[in-house]
Amino acid sequence: MLDERQSKGRTHENLLKARLRQEIDGGIAASRDPVNASLPELAARLTTIYSPWYTRTCPECKDKFREDDRVRLCPMCEQAYHDDAQYSLQCWRTHFAAGHVCKRGGYDPIAEVPRPRCNYRWSGKFPDEAGRTSQKAQGSRRVERVTSQFLGGLATVWQPFGERTVREIKPGESIIGHKCPWCRFHIRAGDRVVKCPCGKCETYFHDDIFRHLTCWNDWNGTQGNNYCPTSGAEIARAPALVVAEEEYHGR
Ligand SMILES: [Zn+2]
Ligand SMILES: [Zn+2]
Ligand SMILES: [Zn+2]
Ligand SMILES: [Zn+2]
Repeated sequence: MLDERQSKGRTHENLLKARLRQEIDGGIAASRDPVNASLPELAARLTTIYSPWYTRTCPECKDKFREDDRVRLCPMCEQAYHDDAQYSLQCWRTHFAAGHVCKRGGYDPIAEVPRPRCNYRWSGKFPDEAGRTSQKAQGSRRVERVTSQFLGGLATVWQPFGERTVREIKPGESIIGHKCPWCRFHIRAGDRVVKCPCGKCETYFHDDIFRHLTCWNDWNGTQGNNYCPTSGAEIARAPALVVAEEEYHGR
């Protein structure tokens, strides 16, 4: 009997410690990411490298948060979930659908601590979505148009790595969820990628300068790796880059 009570007491203590730690960490993190800290509850936030959830994993899509990912935070435990149309990531809506709570809790066998439970349920509304939808949609369409024009222009100037075809992943493609071998983030719908040219694999590298994911350029260009990270087969370096380097070295 005594043992059982002791162990219950310890579990409770661990839970309190975990919560306290979470609150302290949250406070420190908020002071580092002031832009997001001053927003109202449930408002959409854009991930920065200072965001407390940056480098953590979204519980719904299991992908790590990237810079500029649009997320919403649980008002009780500050767990972040994607709400990002540019990648078709509706993680918040999916997670809280049908009145589900934020975290069911339980025991974490790896960390050997009780997982915190969070009873928060979403009402189905966001503070920033009442009546402003059409205005916002118009704005984002305009940005999209400007972006596509700019990308078109950039593609003609950005030759050294542009030798390879860059394409945008569409929703539902089977490659979604595969890991990019360079940055280790998952490939998402909406990502701009280069297919590995070795011809022996189904590997895709990001190549998206606007999202700071220039993985193909880093692998084959900057780092000069002339082999496929999956099959090991040799791949040629971008010809224009070789010429540029020879000119640089005066050959
Ligand atoms: Zn997600
Ligand atoms: Zn929560
Ligand atoms: Zn990548
Ligand atoms: Zn390959």
